[in-house]
Amino acid sequence: STQLSVGQLAELMKRNSSEIIKFLFMLGNMSTINTTLSDEDIELICMNFNVTPHKEIIIDEDDIEEQISNRVFDEKDLVSRPPVVTIMGHVDHGKTTLLDTIRNSHVTSGEFGGITQHIGAYQVSVSGKKVTFLDTPGHEAFTAMRARGAQITDIVVLIVAADDGVMPQTKESIDHARAAGVPIVVAVNKIDKAGANPERVMSELANEGVMPEEWGGDNIFVEISARNGQGVDDLLESILLVAEMQELKANPKTLASGTVVEAKLDKGRGPVATLLIQQGTLKAADSLVVGSAYGRIRKMTNDRGQELKTAGPSMPVEIIGLNEVPQAGDVFMVYDSYKKAAEIAQSRENKKIERERNATSARSLEDMARMI
Ligand code: GDP
Ligand code: MG
Repeated sequence: STQLSVGQLAELMKRNSSEIIKFLFMLGNMSTINTTLSDEDIELICMNFNVTPHKEIIIDEDDIEEQISNRVFDEKDLVSRPPVVTIMGHVDHGKTTLLDTIRNSHVTSGEFGGITQHIGAYQVSVSGKKVTFLDTPGHEAFTAMRARGAQITDIVVLIVAADDGVMPQTKESIDHARAAGVPIVVAVNKIDKAGANPERVMSELANEGVMPEEWGGDNIFVEISARNGQGVDDLLESILLVAEMQELKANPKTLASGTVVEAKLDKGRGPVATLLIQQGTLKAADSLVVGSAYGRIRKMTNDRGQELKTAGPSMPVEIIGLNEVPQAGDVFMVYDSYKKAAEIAQSRENKKIERERNATSARSLEDMARMI
Protein backbone atom coordinates (compact mmCIF):
# COMPACT_ATOMS: atom_id res chain seq x y z
CA SER A 1 0.00 0.00 0.00
CA THR A 2 1.01 3.59 -0.54
CA GLN A 3 0.67 4.75 3.09
CA LEU A 4 -0.23 8.31 2.23
CA SER A 5 -1.64 10.51 4.94
CA VAL A 6 -4.34 13.12 4.42
CA GLY A 7 -1.70 15.83 4.76
CA GLN A 8 0.65 14.23 2.24
CA LEU A 9 -2.07 13.70 -0.34
CA ALA A 10 -3.30 17.27 0.13
CA GLU A 11 0.21 18.51 -0.54
CA LEU A 12 0.54 16.40 -3.68
CA MET A 13 -2.81 17.61 -4.92
CA LYS A 14 -1.96 21.21 -4.02
CA ARG A 15 -5.10 21.38 -1.92
CA ASN A 16 -5.87 22.27 1.65
CA SER A 17 -6.06 19.22 4.00
CA SER A 18 -9.25 20.62 5.46
CA GLU A 19 -10.98 20.14 2.10
CA ILE A 20 -10.07 16.45 2.15
CA ILE A 21 -11.06 16.08 5.80
CA LYS A 22 -14.39 17.69 5.00
CA PHE A 23 -14.92 15.43 2.00
CA LEU A 24 -14.16 12.31 4.06
CA PHE A 25 -16.46 13.59 6.77
CA MET A 26 -19.27 13.86 4.23
CA LEU A 27 -18.66 10.21 3.41
CA GLY A 28 -19.03 9.47 7.11
CA ASN A 29 -15.30 9.02 7.84
CA MET A 30 -13.60 10.98 10.58
CA SER A 31 -10.02 11.86 9.78
CA THR A 32 -7.20 14.19 10.71
CA ILE A 33 -4.23 15.48 8.78
CA ASN A 34 -2.28 12.41 9.98
CA THR A 35 -4.82 9.76 9.06
CA THR A 36 -3.42 7.17 6.66
CA LEU A 37 -5.65 6.78 3.65
CA SER A 38 -6.81 3.52 2.12
CA ASP A 39 -6.40 3.07 -1.61
CA GLU A 40 -10.17 3.31 -2.00
CA ASP A 41 -10.19 6.63 -0.13
CA ILE A 42 -7.40 7.95 -2.32
CA GLU A 43 -9.37 7.00 -5.42
CA LEU A 44 -12.54 8.66 -4.16
CA ILE A 45 -10.71 11.81 -3.12
CA CYS A 46 -8.92 12.06 -6.43
CA MET A 47 -12.18 11.59 -8.30
CA ASN A 48 -13.91 14.20 -6.22
CA PHE A 49 -11.16 16.76 -6.71
CA ASN A 50 -10.75 16.08 -10.41
CA VAL A 51 -7.38 14.43 -10.05
CA THR A 52 -6.70 11.04 -11.56
CA PRO A 53 -4.34 9.09 -9.34
CA HIS A 54 -1.59 7.62 -11.43
CA LYS A 55 -1.90 3.91 -11.91
CA GLU A 56 1.17 3.32 -9.78
CA ILE A 57 -0.34 4.96 -6.75
CA ILE A 58 -2.13 1.84 -5.76
CA ILE A 59 0.65 -0.67 -6.00
CA ASP A 60 3.94 1.17 -6.02
CA GLU A 61 5.42 3.58 -3.50
CA ASP A 62 8.01 4.93 -5.92
CA ASP A 63 7.73 8.36 -7.44
CA ILE A 64 4.20 8.85 -6.23
CA GLU A 65 4.69 12.53 -5.72
CA GLU A 66 5.78 13.13 -9.25
CA GLN A 67 3.15 10.85 -10.69
CA ILE A 68 0.21 12.41 -8.92
CA SER A 69 1.28 15.94 -9.53
CA ASN A 70 1.65 15.07 -13.20
CA ARG A 71 -1.99 14.08 -13.18
CA VAL A 72 -3.37 17.12 -11.43
CA PHE A 73 -5.82 18.59 -13.85
CA ASP A 74 -5.53 22.00 -15.29
CA GLU A 75 -8.61 24.17 -14.91
CA LYS A 76 -8.41 24.61 -18.66
CA ASP A 77 -9.10 20.91 -19.28
CA LEU A 78 -12.45 21.13 -17.51
CA VAL A 79 -15.49 21.39 -19.75
CA SER A 80 -19.14 21.48 -18.84
CA ARG A 81 -20.89 18.14 -18.69
CA PRO A 82 -24.55 17.07 -18.76
CA PRO A 83 -26.41 16.80 -15.46
CA VAL A 84 -27.18 13.37 -14.02
CA VAL A 85 -30.75 13.21 -12.76
CA THR A 86 -32.57 10.70 -10.57
CA ILE A 87 -36.36 10.61 -10.33
CA MET A 88 -37.55 9.69 -6.86
CA GLY A 89 -40.89 9.52 -5.14
CA HIS A 90 -43.56 7.36 -3.57
CA VAL A 91 -44.56 4.13 -5.28
CA ASP A 92 -47.19 4.61 -8.00
CA HIS A 93 -46.66 8.37 -8.16
CA GLY A 94 -45.37 7.97 -11.72
CA LYS A 95 -41.56 7.50 -11.82
CA THR A 96 -41.59 4.80 -14.47
CA THR A 97 -44.21 6.58 -16.56
CA LEU A 98 -42.20 9.82 -16.48
CA LEU A 99 -38.93 8.07 -17.36
CA ASP A 100 -40.65 6.38 -20.30
CA THR A 101 -42.33 9.58 -21.50
CA ILE A 102 -39.08 11.53 -21.41
CA ARG A 103 -37.16 8.80 -23.11
CA ASN A 104 -39.70 8.24 -25.85
CA SER A 105 -40.11 11.90 -26.68
CA HIS A 106 -36.48 13.03 -26.55
CA VAL A 107 -34.29 10.73 -28.54
CA THR A 108 -30.71 12.03 -28.64
CA SER A 109 -30.28 13.87 -31.90
CA GLY A 110 -28.81 11.88 -34.73
CA GLU A 111 -30.04 8.62 -33.30
CA PHE A 112 -32.81 6.64 -34.87
CA GLY A 113 -34.99 3.99 -33.39
CA GLY A 114 -32.56 1.40 -32.25
CA ILE A 115 -33.47 -1.30 -29.82
CA THR A 116 -34.74 0.32 -26.68
CA GLN A 117 -33.12 -1.71 -23.99
CA HIS A 118 -33.04 -1.19 -20.27
CA ILE A 119 -29.52 -0.43 -19.09
CA GLY A 120 -30.34 1.48 -15.91
CA ALA A 121 -29.62 4.92 -17.35
CA TYR A 122 -30.23 6.86 -20.52
CA GLN A 123 -29.41 10.18 -22.08
CA VAL A 124 -31.77 12.53 -23.89
CA SER A 125 -31.32 15.78 -25.74
CA VAL A 126 -33.33 18.81 -24.63
CA SER A 127 -33.03 21.98 -26.73
CA GLY A 128 -29.66 20.69 -27.90
CA LYS A 129 -28.43 19.99 -24.39
CA LYS A 130 -27.95 16.54 -22.97
CA VAL A 131 -29.45 15.23 -19.74
CA THR A 132 -28.66 11.84 -18.23
CA PHE A 133 -31.40 10.04 -16.33
CA LEU A 134 -30.68 7.23 -13.93
CA ASP A 135 -33.28 4.54 -14.08
CA THR A 136 -32.11 2.39 -11.21
CA PRO A 137 -34.42 0.21 -9.15
CA GLY A 138 -34.97 3.19 -6.91
CA HIS A 139 -34.16 3.84 -3.34
CA GLU A 140 -32.06 0.81 -2.53
CA ALA A 141 -29.62 1.42 -5.34
CA PHE A 142 -29.39 5.09 -4.44
CA THR A 143 -28.79 4.26 -0.78
CA ALA A 144 -26.23 1.58 -1.64
CA MET A 145 -24.34 4.00 -3.85
CA ARG A 146 -24.30 6.68 -1.23
CA ALA A 147 -23.16 4.22 1.43
CA ARG A 148 -20.19 3.52 -0.81
CA GLY A 149 -19.42 7.16 -1.15
CA ALA A 150 -20.46 7.31 -4.76
CA GLN A 151 -22.06 10.60 -5.52
CA ILE A 152 -23.49 10.30 -8.96
CA THR A 153 -26.70 12.31 -9.00
CA ASP A 154 -26.58 16.06 -9.60
CA ILE A 155 -30.32 16.71 -9.37
CA VAL A 156 -33.25 14.84 -7.83
CA VAL A 157 -36.65 15.14 -9.48
CA LEU A 158 -39.14 14.53 -6.69
CA ILE A 159 -42.35 13.24 -8.19
CA VAL A 160 -45.55 13.62 -6.18
CA ALA A 161 -48.98 12.55 -7.43
CA ALA A 162 -51.36 15.49 -7.15
CA ASP A 163 -54.22 13.18 -6.20
CA ASP A 164 -52.29 11.55 -3.37
CA GLY A 165 -49.89 14.10 -1.91
CA VAL A 166 -46.83 13.62 0.29
CA MET A 167 -46.39 9.98 1.33
CA PRO A 168 -43.73 8.10 3.36
CA GLN A 169 -41.41 7.48 0.39
CA THR A 170 -41.79 11.12 -0.63
CA LYS A 171 -40.25 12.05 2.71
CA GLU A 172 -37.55 9.39 2.34
CA SER A 173 -36.68 10.80 -1.08
CA ILE A 174 -36.33 14.28 0.41
CA ASP A 175 -34.01 12.85 3.07
CA HIS A 176 -31.89 11.12 0.43
CA ALA A 177 -31.58 14.27 -1.66
CA ARG A 178 -30.68 16.34 1.40
CA ALA A 179 -28.10 13.83 2.63
CA ALA A 180 -26.51 13.92 -0.80
CA GLY A 181 -26.66 17.72 -0.90
CA VAL A 182 -28.48 17.59 -4.23
CA PRO A 183 -31.07 20.17 -5.38
CA ILE A 184 -34.68 19.02 -5.70
CA VAL A 185 -36.95 19.87 -8.62
CA VAL A 186 -40.56 18.95 -7.83
CA ALA A 187 -42.76 17.31 -10.46
CA VAL A 188 -46.37 17.55 -9.35
CA ASN A 189 -47.76 14.65 -11.37
CA LYS A 190 -51.15 13.39 -12.54
CA ILE A 191 -52.62 16.86 -12.94
CA ASP A 192 -54.85 15.37 -15.64
CA LYS A 193 -56.77 13.47 -12.96
CA ALA A 194 -60.08 14.71 -11.62
CA GLY A 195 -58.95 14.56 -7.99
CA ALA A 196 -55.69 16.42 -8.64
CA ASN A 197 -54.88 19.08 -6.05
CA PRO A 198 -51.51 20.67 -6.79
CA GLU A 199 -51.98 23.34 -4.11
CA ARG A 200 -52.18 20.66 -1.46
CA VAL A 201 -48.94 19.09 -2.70
CA MET A 202 -47.27 22.50 -2.47
CA SER A 203 -48.32 23.10 1.12
CA GLU A 204 -47.53 19.55 2.20
CA LEU A 205 -44.04 19.80 0.69
CA ALA A 206 -43.57 23.25 2.19
CA ASN A 207 -44.23 21.58 5.56
CA GLU A 208 -41.32 19.27 4.79
CA GLY A 209 -39.11 22.24 3.99
CA VAL A 210 -39.33 21.86 0.23
CA MET A 211 -40.55 25.35 -0.56
CA PRO A 212 -41.83 26.53 -3.95
CA GLU A 213 -40.09 29.53 -5.50
CA GLU A 214 -43.46 31.28 -5.68
CA TRP A 215 -43.54 31.15 -1.91
CA GLY A 216 -40.02 32.44 -1.48
CA GLY A 217 -38.33 29.04 -1.45
CA ASP A 218 -35.55 27.47 -3.52
CA ASN A 219 -37.45 24.70 -5.23
CA ILE A 220 -38.90 24.79 -8.72
CA PHE A 221 -42.32 23.10 -8.89
CA VAL A 222 -43.63 21.96 -12.27
CA GLU A 223 -47.11 20.57 -12.82
CA ILE A 224 -47.07 17.65 -15.19
CA SER A 225 -48.93 14.68 -16.51
CA ALA A 226 -46.35 11.97 -17.01
CA ARG A 227 -49.01 10.01 -18.85
CA ASN A 228 -50.03 12.52 -21.51
CA GLY A 229 -46.80 14.53 -21.55
CA GLN A 230 -48.29 17.84 -20.41
CA GLY A 231 -45.66 20.02 -18.66
CA VAL A 232 -42.84 17.53 -19.25
CA ASP A 233 -40.93 19.95 -21.48
CA ASP A 234 -41.20 22.62 -18.75
CA LEU A 235 -39.81 20.10 -16.31
CA LEU A 236 -36.86 19.37 -18.60
CA GLU A 237 -36.18 23.08 -19.06
CA SER A 238 -36.24 23.52 -15.28
CA ILE A 239 -33.75 20.69 -14.89
CA LEU A 240 -31.44 22.41 -17.38
CA LEU A 241 -31.80 25.68 -15.50
CA VAL A 242 -30.82 24.10 -12.19
CA ALA A 243 -27.94 22.28 -13.91
CA GLU A 244 -26.65 25.53 -15.37
CA MET A 245 -26.47 27.07 -11.91
CA GLN A 246 -24.43 24.09 -10.71
CA GLU A 247 -21.76 24.66 -13.38
CA LEU A 248 -21.07 20.95 -13.67
CA LYS A 249 -17.66 20.24 -15.14
CA ALA A 250 -15.40 17.32 -15.91
CA ASN A 251 -12.16 16.59 -17.69
CA PRO A 252 -12.70 14.56 -20.85
CA LYS A 253 -8.96 14.40 -21.60
CA THR A 254 -7.97 11.69 -19.18
CA LEU A 255 -8.41 7.99 -18.51
CA ALA A 256 -12.02 7.36 -17.59
CA SER A 257 -13.40 6.81 -14.12
CA GLY A 258 -16.92 6.68 -12.74
CA THR A 259 -19.51 4.47 -11.10
CA VAL A 260 -21.34 1.23 -11.82
CA VAL A 261 -25.06 1.90 -12.15
CA GLU A 262 -26.19 -1.66 -12.73
CA ALA A 263 -24.59 -5.04 -13.38
CA LYS A 264 -25.69 -8.55 -14.13
CA LEU A 265 -24.53 -11.87 -15.44
CA ASP A 266 -25.77 -12.52 -18.95
CA LYS A 267 -25.80 -16.17 -20.04
CA GLY A 268 -24.31 -15.49 -23.44
CA ARG A 269 -22.22 -12.37 -22.87
CA GLY A 270 -20.89 -12.91 -19.35
CA PRO A 271 -20.73 -10.02 -16.86
CA VAL A 272 -22.53 -6.95 -18.23
CA ALA A 273 -22.16 -3.60 -16.48
CA THR A 274 -23.75 -0.21 -17.00
CA LEU A 275 -21.20 2.47 -16.19
CA LEU A 276 -21.73 6.16 -15.68
CA ILE A 277 -18.60 7.98 -16.82
CA GLN A 278 -17.77 10.83 -14.43
CA GLN A 279 -14.29 11.82 -15.54
CA GLY A 280 -12.34 11.21 -18.69
CA THR A 281 -13.23 9.47 -21.91
CA LEU A 282 -13.85 5.74 -22.02
CA LYS A 283 -12.56 4.00 -25.13
CA ALA A 284 -13.75 0.78 -26.71
CA ALA A 285 -10.73 -1.39 -25.81
CA ASP A 286 -9.81 0.19 -22.46
CA SER A 287 -8.74 -1.92 -19.51
CA LEU A 288 -10.41 -1.15 -16.23
CA VAL A 289 -10.74 -2.17 -12.62
CA VAL A 290 -14.10 -2.17 -10.85
CA GLY A 291 -13.89 -3.19 -7.20
CA SER A 292 -11.97 -6.45 -7.50
CA ALA A 293 -13.28 -7.16 -11.00
CA TYR A 294 -11.25 -6.20 -14.04
CA GLY A 295 -11.03 -6.70 -17.74
CA ARG A 296 -10.63 -5.22 -21.17
CA ILE A 297 -13.78 -3.87 -22.77
CA ARG A 298 -14.93 -6.21 -25.52
CA LYS A 299 -17.93 -4.16 -26.54
CA MET A 300 -19.31 -0.80 -25.46
CA THR A 301 -22.85 0.28 -26.33
CA ASN A 302 -25.12 3.22 -25.54
CA ASP A 303 -28.66 3.09 -24.12
CA ARG A 304 -30.00 2.26 -27.59
CA GLY A 305 -27.73 -0.70 -28.07
CA GLN A 306 -25.55 1.13 -30.58
CA GLU A 307 -21.86 0.33 -30.48
CA LEU A 308 -19.55 3.15 -29.39
CA LYS A 309 -15.84 3.81 -29.88
CA THR A 310 -15.62 6.49 -27.17
CA ALA A 311 -17.84 7.95 -24.45
CA GLY A 312 -17.33 11.08 -22.36
CA PRO A 313 -18.41 12.50 -18.97
CA SER A 314 -22.02 11.91 -17.78
CA MET A 315 -22.59 9.33 -20.46
CA PRO A 316 -24.07 5.96 -19.48
CA VAL A 317 -22.68 2.98 -21.36
CA GLU A 318 -23.03 -0.74 -21.19
CA ILE A 319 -19.85 -2.78 -21.37
CA ILE A 320 -18.89 -6.42 -21.55
CA GLY A 321 -15.44 -7.84 -20.92
CA LEU A 322 -15.16 -7.89 -17.11
CA ASN A 323 -14.08 -11.11 -15.42
CA GLU A 324 -16.81 -10.95 -12.79
CA VAL A 325 -20.00 -9.04 -12.03
CA PRO A 326 -19.30 -5.81 -10.11
CA GLN A 327 -21.75 -4.23 -7.67
CA ALA A 328 -23.91 -1.19 -8.28
CA GLY A 329 -22.11 1.76 -6.70
CA ASP A 330 -18.61 0.37 -7.30
CA VAL A 331 -16.13 2.88 -8.66
CA PHE A 332 -14.42 1.97 -11.93
CA MET A 333 -11.07 3.26 -13.17
CA VAL A 334 -9.29 2.79 -16.43
CA TYR A 335 -5.57 1.99 -16.43
CA ASP A 336 -3.26 2.26 -19.34
CA SER A 337 -2.57 -1.44 -19.71
CA TYR A 338 -4.44 -4.68 -19.22
CA LYS A 339 -1.53 -6.03 -17.18
CA LYS A 340 -1.72 -3.11 -14.77
CA ALA A 341 -5.47 -3.47 -14.38
CA ALA A 342 -5.05 -7.17 -13.61
CA GLU A 343 -2.32 -6.46 -11.03
CA ILE A 344 -4.42 -3.85 -9.26
CA ALA A 345 -7.47 -6.09 -9.21
CA GLN A 346 -5.34 -8.92 -7.82
CA SER A 347 -3.83 -6.73 -5.13
CA ARG A 348 -7.31 -5.57 -4.14
CA GLU A 349 -8.57 -9.13 -4.03
CA ASN A 350 -5.63 -10.06 -1.77
CA LYS A 351 -6.37 -7.13 0.50
CA LYS A 352 -10.01 -8.09 0.64
CA ILE A 353 -9.10 -11.63 1.62
CA GLU A 354 -6.75 -10.28 4.26
CA ARG A 355 -9.41 -7.92 5.64
CA GLU A 356 -11.89 -10.76 5.82
CA ARG A 357 -9.31 -12.96 7.53
CA ASN A 358 -8.57 -10.20 10.06
CA ALA A 359 -12.26 -9.64 10.65
CA THR A 360 -12.72 -13.36 11.23
CA SER A 361 -9.87 -13.57 13.70
CA ALA A 362 -11.08 -10.44 15.48
CA ARG A 363 -14.49 -12.00 15.75
CA SER A 364 -13.15 -15.28 17.10
CA LEU A 365 -11.09 -13.36 19.67
CA GLU A 366 -14.26 -11.61 20.73
CA ASP A 367 -16.04 -14.93 20.94
CA MET A 368 -13.24 -16.33 23.05
CA ALA A 369 -13.30 -13.31 25.31
CA ARG A 370 -17.00 -13.83 25.78
CA MET A 371 -16.49 -17.46 26.72
CA ILE A 372 -13.92 -16.74 29.40
P1 GDP B 1 -44.01 4.39 -10.11
O1 GDP B 1 -44.34 3.30 -9.11
O2 GDP B 1 -43.64 5.65 -9.39
O3 GDP B 1 -42.98 3.96 -11.10
O4 GDP B 1 -45.37 4.74 -10.88
P2 GDP B 1 -45.83 4.32 -12.34
O5 GDP B 1 -45.13 5.11 -13.35
O6 GDP B 1 -45.74 2.84 -12.46
O7 GDP B 1 -47.34 4.83 -12.31
C1 GDP B 1 -48.31 4.25 -11.45
C2 GDP B 1 -49.67 4.37 -12.10
O8 GDP B 1 -50.03 5.74 -12.26
C3 GDP B 1 -49.72 3.74 -13.49
O9 GDP B 1 -50.97 3.10 -13.65
C4 GDP B 1 -49.61 4.94 -14.40
O10 GDP B 1 -50.24 4.73 -15.64
C5 GDP B 1 -50.33 6.01 -13.61
N1 GDP B 1 -49.85 7.35 -13.93
C6 GDP B 1 -48.57 7.79 -13.94
N2 GDP B 1 -48.51 9.08 -14.32
C7 GDP B 1 -49.79 9.47 -14.55
C8 GDP B 1 -50.36 10.71 -14.95
O11 GDP B 1 -49.71 11.72 -15.19
N3 GDP B 1 -51.73 10.73 -15.06
C9 GDP B 1 -52.49 9.64 -14.80
N4 GDP B 1 -53.80 9.77 -14.93
N5 GDP B 1 -51.96 8.48 -14.42
C10 GDP B 1 -50.64 8.37 -14.29
MG1 MG C 1 -41.89 2.19 -11.23
